[in-house]
Amino acid sequence: MKKLGPVAIIGAGLSGLSCAQALRDAGVTVRVFESSSVVGGRCATRLWQGHLVDIGIQYFTAQSTEFKKELLTRLRQFRPIISPILDHDNKVVVNPTGPRFYVLQGNNYFAHILSQGLDIRLNTRVETITFSSSGVECLGEPFCAVVSSLPGPLTARLFGLPRSPVEYDPCLVALMEYAGKDYSRECYARVQPDGSEPLLSSHCENNKVGRVVGDKSVFVAQASPRFSREYADAPPENYLPRLVHEHEKLWRIPSGQCTASSSHRWLHARPMEAHRHRVDLPHGAFNCGDSRTDSTVEHVWLDGRKVAREVLSFLSENSN
Ligand SMILES: Cc1cc2nc3c(=O)[nH]c(=O)nc-3n(C[C@H](O)[C@H](O)[C@H](O)COP(=O)(O)OP(=O)(O)OC[C@H]3O[C@@H](n4cnc5c(N)ncnc54)[C@H](O)[C@@H]3O)c2cc1C
Repeated sequence: MKKLGPVAIIGAGLSGLSCAQALRDAGVTVRVFESSSVVGGRCATRLWQGHLVDIGIQYFTAQSTEFKKELLTRLRQFRPIISPILDHDNKVVVNPTGPRFYVLQGNNYFAHILSQGLDIRLNTRVETITFSSSGVECLGEPFCAVVSSLPGPLTARLFGLPRSPVEYDPCLVALMEYAGKDYSRECYARVQPDGSEPLLSSHCENNKVGRVVGDKSVFVAQASPRFSREYADAPPENYLPRLVHEHEKLWRIPSGQCTASSSHRWLHARPMEAHRHRVDLPHGAFNCGDSRTDSTVEHVWLDGRKVAREVLSFLSENSN
């Protein structure tokens, strides 16, 4: 049987990888281009102070049969987080989408599993795509179609669109280590949904089995969109001490006990739901991920599959 494609996928986050897998399973030749040296994008795990710390996606939920099947067949090594998330009044925050799960080896391992068997060019940034009547050109090579799995503003730049399908908020993340007390006995996370506070949430990684080494507690705190916007371009020394202080207030930890801290900046963290626009993509161009769906693991994975079906019908309509 004649192979369809080739199709270029830009970005090896969960949506790009899920799209690439679905196309490959349907017999399409696929090549994935990833600017970073690792796959996963915002599904990122860092080895920090000897601990395995999720610095992007903290946990995921699974509602659809299709996603549950994927987890059970391809991933398998995931576990539920038992402890609750508490709000400012110490009330349990019930998750409407069911139990929260994490991956034993670090959440990034899910991306690693999805990348298996794919033709992925790491350390390869794609700045622009050229569209012509004969097809699509990416880094000097011809493709039948291209899928951008990048956050909206980056997709707009890649395809030369007049505007982004959606604007994004940045997110500043603080990693903190404490010696002695195991804070995971209290809860999994504390959240402050009121965006006027500097902190949005603070998660205790000790709730994930085997991640934290020694007699330590490790936290991952996310700054609110407002605070993150204010300090997005600032060096860590301008905002990290404030985030540590706010985190200690939230968990009632006496100050001066933090044994290590670090930060990470997500420039395009989450879409601003109120700022979605309809944009027309060039012929042969597609996009997937949270620039067109909810910003959750399950939704972007499902969207990758959905776009793969759209690409397949485009390829069969345009094949001669
Ligand atoms: C701090 C934080 C916490 C979160 N927590 C959760 C959570 O607990 N649960 C949950 O369900 N969701 C969470 N999310 C949302 C979730 O991370 C995203 O919805 C999801 O990871 C988006 O995946 P994606 O594949 O669409 O995009 P991305 O993961 O952003 O993938 C895009 C990829 O493209 C690459 N790239 C960028 N530019 C180029 C270029 N020019 N050329 C080639 N490659 C390029 C990037 O390196 C990246 O690998 C969180 C997000 C953040 C930022």
